[in-house]
This record gives sequence, structure tokens and C-alpha cells, in this order.
Amino acid sequence: MSKFYITTAIDYVNDTIHLGHAFQKIATDVLARYYRISLGKDNVFFLTGTDEYGQKAEKAAKQQNIATNEFVKKISDSDQKEQDSLNISYDRFIRTTDSDHAEVVKEIWNKVEKNGDVYSGEYEGSYCEGCEAYYTKEDLINKKCPIHPTLTIKIIKEKNYFFKWSKYKDFLINYIRNNQDFIFPTHRAKEMLEFAKNIKDIPISRSNFTWGIPVPNDPKQVIYVWFDALVNYLTGVGFLKDKKLFNKFWPADVHILGKDNLRWHALLWPAMLKSANIELPKTILVNGFLNINGQKISKSVGNVIRPSEWVKKYGADAVRYYLLRYTNITEDSDISEEKLLQAYNADLANGLGNLVSRVAKLCENSNYVQMGSEERTSSHLIDIEEYSSAFASFKFNDALSFIWGNITELDKLINEEKPWELAKQNSPKLRTILAHAVDQIQEIAVLLEPFLPKTAEKIEEQFRGPKITSQKPLFPRI
Ligand SMILES: [Zn+2]
Repeated sequence: MSKFYITTAIDYVNDTIHLGHAFQKIATDVLARYYRISLGKDNVFFLTGTDEYGQKAEKAAKQQNIATNEFVKKISDSDQKEQDSLNISYDRFIRTTDSDHAEVVKEIWNKVEKNGDVYSGEYEGSYCEGCEAYYTKEDLINKKCPIHPTLTIKIIKEKNYFFKWSKYKDFLINYIRNNQDFIFPTHRAKEMLEFAKNIKDIPISRSNFTWGIPVPNDPKQVIYVWFDALVNYLTGVGFLKDKKLFNKFWPADVHILGKDNLRWHALLWPAMLKSANIELPKTILVNGFLNINGQKISKSVGNVIRPSEWVKKYGADAVRYYLLRYTNITEDSDISEEKLLQAYNADLANGLGNLVSRVAKLCENSNYVQMGSEERTSSHLIDIEEYSSAFASFKFNDALSFIWGNITELDKLINEEKPWELAKQNSPKLRTILAHAVDQIQEIAVLLEPFLPKTAEKIEEQFRGPKITSQKPLFPRI
């Protein structure tokens, strides 16, 4: 691999993002930072942003008595602030209301139409405004949307343009079967193969509201929000606007998205791309959902927490650490502030923080002066095979366990070798032990970089030498 292009789902602007969204953004950020280290900064592109068109946004704005464009800007800005609070290192924060995006969406529409895949018709059937999606009778559970059981399903009847989705049914089934890496984890691919059997043509325009990108040559209709939103992955890396950038980064290496968005990404998006004669993304990584104290995160439960609230109390690195260490990205996981606090004190204050200040203190007390690389026994003390393979299979929790395993090991070694005793005896072994400990800490800091960027930077600075001195604790106990 020589370049890495990764995208998050773009968040819908009916409300500001919460911890559940943060989970996905942090995972994406960790991958982007990891590949920046191995491939170089210029060879990684990280796209995130907001999905701003559609009936739901128009309605939410009306409820608050604000112009729709002002309303979506307000939410988009606060989403961006939330991401910034977590140090999410995106290269572009796209808004689907950006002018370059409208041009790309129209271009894709025209390509798909030219390929004979757009026709006009009339749709009558079920529509969930929560999902902004059409459902067949078989999709509904007790006549309700499977994701929004509290919303009423609308029966809509309108003139639309349809996309010949069914034309790509066999292509999609074969593609998923023949490309084992396309959908991760695998059990999600099986779900999609099942769903693909029932693909029918789908309306890709709406005519009963106006908040959207107009259909080329028929401005009374707006383009269906999913058709528009998916195209952001092309706009984000310069399709139409910056050919060089686009050719360098497309196809996307990883699209990360929640399990509720899977069918659009795994089945509609590839069909659109195939129709427009554009290469398909390489991997779709499906993230599970976070529950808080055993409950789904929702406004009606009243347990919505903004990432910045936890960041204010514990710091961005602690939140990033906790959300990836004690979860599995592809499954649903349960979190709580109490468990965050435990992880903070046990793993960060005691584990990492304590080891770093302990070694610094020993160096300071022994007047240790770092000689540099000639003192090292090998170029890498830590065998990172396990760490790298954890990244290759998106097992962030395993990568972090591996780092903390090394922290424990080094702590144990110091306890056994007792450098404070060696200092009293003026033993030449003291220098060897300290050199080893310093090397290990420097390597641990590198491994920490994708996960805890600020902390890694502090450690690297503190241990750059030649003289190492004590500093304020990295994670004061709470
Ligand atoms: Zn729904």
C-alpha cells in the first residue's frame, strides 16, 4: 500500500454528535495517524463532515424557527467543534451544502442517467423520515421502522426519478462473494448478500420538499439525500476539482460507518459507482454501537453525552483511550463514566503515567546522560508484529492491550532489577538498566502516537535527552 484514503460516515445535522459518533471518529483518526507514520503525511487523506440535505433537516429547522441553511450551519459547526475537542485530524471537513459537492452530485447523476439507469415513475409506499429511507412491507417490524420504532411510517405517493438498482443485483452479489475484504466483519457481508436478493429499483429524487440539490434539467425535484450524501466521498478528494488529488487517493481504502448505514454503502454506493464507471472502494468497515450503562444512547432516554463534556473532565487522550481499549469496534459495546474513571486511574495515572515518572525520576536522581543509539542492543526492543497485525484487522483493543503489556513488563523489570539499590552500590549495571528503560519508553511513545497523540508527544519530548528530568504527572489521579 502506498496511499491511504479513509472516510467516516458524515453525520446528519438534525442534532450535534454524541459519544456514539465519537467512537467511530476516534477509530478513523487512529487509523489515519497510524498510516501517516508508515506512509508519510502526504500519502494519507482523512475525510469527515456533515450530511445536511433532506426533509429531516428542513423540519428540524422549522421547529426552531430558523432558516434551514442557518440551522444546518449551526449543527455542522458544533459537530466540527466536538471532533476538534477529541483531536480528530481530518484533512477535510466536508459539508454536503458545499458548492463543489453539488457540482459533483449533478455530474454523477448525469453519468448514471447517460448509462440508461435513471427513469421517471411514481413511487407509492412506506418511508421513514428518521432514516430518510424507503421501506418495503417486509422490512418493517410491526409496521414500524426497525431503527425508529417510535416514529410513524409515512405512506408517500409522489412522482420521482428511479435508479435501476435491480440491474446491478447480480453484479453486487458476485462482487461481495469474490471480494472477501470488501465488507468487514464478514458476518455483515452475509447480511448484505441476503438483502441483495430483494433489491428493487429505488426513487432517487423527491418532489414534496425543496431542501436538496436540484435534479439536473428538472428543478422541481431534489436529489434523494442518500444519493447525494454517498457522493461526498468523491467530492472530498477532488473529483472534478482536483484531478491530481483524486487520482492519487481514489478508490477509498476504508469507509467506516455504523451498522444502520450498511446497506447504502455496501449495495447502493457500489451500484452507483459501477453505473458511473468509477472504481469501487476497497473496504467497508462496519462499526457497532455504544450503549451507556446498558442503554441505547438517545434523546428520549436522556443519556446523550457530547464528547467535549468528557474531554473537559478527563482530557481528549483519556477519552480516546477508554473508548477504544474497552470496546470492540465491530460490535456493540457498553460504556459508562464510572468505567472511564477506573480506566483513567488504573491504566493511565497508575500504569503509563506512573512508569514514565518513575523512570524519569530514576534518571534524574542518577544523573543519567543519554548517549543515543549506539547504546541500544537492537533497533527495536519491542517486537511490533502483534501491534501491526492488530491494526490490519482493526482490533484497536488488541493493539492497546499489547502496549499496556509492554508497560507492565517494563514495570516488572524495574521492580526486579531495583536500580535504586544499584545506585547505592555504584554498580555499572545501573547504566544498562536505565538505558534499556529509556529506550523502551521511547518505543512505547511511538506505539501510543495514533491513540494518545498529545501524551505521546509529551513523553517523546521528556525523553529526548541527553538529560532526562521529572515533569508534571501525565495523568494526575482523579
Ligand atoms: Zn427509520
